[in-house]
Amino acid sequence: MEGVLEENSAGAGALSQELRSRRVPGPHGEYPRRVLIIGGGFAGLECARRLSNDRRFEVTIIDKTNHHLFQPLLYQVATASLAAPDIARSLRQILMKASNVTVLMDEITDLSPEIHEAQGKSGQVYEYDYLFLAAGVQTSFFGRPEWEAHTLGLKSLTEAQGIRRCVLSNLEKAELTECEDERRRLMTVVIAGGGPTGVELSGAFTDLVHRSLRDDFRRIDTSDLRVILVEGSERLLGAYSEKQSAYALKRLEALGVEIRTGTVVADVTEQCVHFADGSKLEAAAIIWAAGTEANPLTRQLGVPLADRAGRLAPEADLSLPGFPEVFVGGDLVSLKDSKGNLIPGVAPAAVQMGRHVAAVLKEESRLENTRFKEQKLELRPRFRYFDKGIMAIIGKNAAVVSSGKLRLTGFLAWLGWLFIHILFLVGFRNKLSVLLGWAFAYARNTPDTRIIVQKQE
Ligand SMILES: Cc1cc2nc3c(=O)[nH]c(=O)nc-3n(C[C@H](O)[C@H](O)[C@H](O)COP(=O)(O)OP(=O)(O)OC[C@H]3O[C@@H](n4cnc5c(N)ncnc54)[C@H](O)[C@@H]3O)c2cc1C
Repeated sequence: MEGVLEENSAGAGALSQELRSRRVPGPHGEYPRRVLIIGGGFAGLECARRLSNDRRFEVTIIDKTNHHLFQPLLYQVATASLAAPDIARSLRQILMKASNVTVLMDEITDLSPEIHEAQGKSGQVYEYDYLFLAAGVQTSFFGRPEWEAHTLGLKSLTEAQGIRRCVLSNLEKAELTECEDERRRLMTVVIAGGGPTGVELSGAFTDLVHRSLRDDFRRIDTSDLRVILVEGSERLLGAYSEKQSAYALKRLEALGVEIRTGTVVADVTEQCVHFADGSKLEAAAIIWAAGTEANPLTRQLGVPLADRAGRLAPEADLSLPGFPEVFVGGDLVSLKDSKGNLIPGVAPAAVQMGRHVAAVLKEESRLENTRFKEQKLELRPRFRYFDKGIMAIIGKNAAVVSSGKLRLTGFLAWLGWLFIHILFLVGFRNKLSVLLGWAFAYARNTPDTRIIVQKQE
């Protein structure tokens, strides 16, 4: 069926015509509900999985890439510890056995909730009975879009490979150059943002240059690579306890990372970061891990936004105010838990939201055939967030874990981090490949993913 759908791409609307004509009525003459899921990340994929093989629904999941990406391990692709295929899996493959789910690769560019339609970059128009918008977030430059051209982000596989390519190429150029100033610039990495991404990246870079690449070069000492982590507030890992932040700082400093807290970036120009205090740093690699904003599609729904980052504030059942058939979930949502705390943008929260939306749709379909049909909207269950905690790794052998009243730091936390990440990685092959890769790298200190793949011009 997918093959036929792919071939049938002649003109806008052709696909939805095709889908319409195939709809097979159920035993009571009712048609399956068309569920359109935008985004095959943690929230969207979980929703599709939960609805899979349920004949009451005809699900279409659309993603601009062809894979589900395990973002928590992106920093290991960026720092040459893992290969890209280890942390991503084809959506088609994951949903292969879900016969009521169609996977399409397209980028949704327009939403028209009043007429229940979404339009893709391909020109296709997708009609739906229910929409689940789970398109995640993107890097934010705080109103300075021109900084994007001078920085490297870490949100996709392409970006992770871009960071790896940049840092490894800079080391090669540093080995070549005779000019000391040039070498210093090539061997400087600035990471803006002292949250989990910045902390994990900086720790992993020091591992790379102090251990893995230590014996590979002859003219440069890779441990001379300066990794400078810049954070605007007074401490790293703001979501963790002060003690854990202090631990992360001490640990990173011991690994050789230069840390500048309370340092605000005022401007970024080509290979140069300018700070609010008037100082500047020249660096051939500037990584931007300082902020995110919701996918721009949230601005097309015509509902008030929850914050300046464009996040949406859904009702308690995760539907949008005024649009009970439109659900939102994952990182692009701003919602408080039962204790009044903002639900963090983490994978478990996204998974729970995807699961909740599927449960609401199933319950609503069940109520359709009961005397409660008219009250189905009022009877929708509220979303309840189960906080499993947060964790960040700090180089080899150390991590911080914060879960309920539990606060862990050090080796035990690191083991917990490894276990949880393997557990949640999608697909047995990926789990095995990552586990073997880690075991090999741990024992030998030599990851095999340091090949520079040039960017296609
Ligand atoms: C570097 C990094 C490290 C992280 N580490 C952790 C961690 O250790 N633990 C943790 O719990 N969380 C971590 N997170 C956060 C976690 O990855 C997110 O909370 C989670 O991915 C959110 O899921 P989502 O479904 O909302 O969005 P995503 O997983 O981002 O999925 C969104 C999907 O939508 C697709 N999409 C976007 N726009 C369009 C469009 N217009 N049309 C079609 N498709 C589109 C994207 O291709 C993507 O597949 C990390 C994130 C990053 C970036």
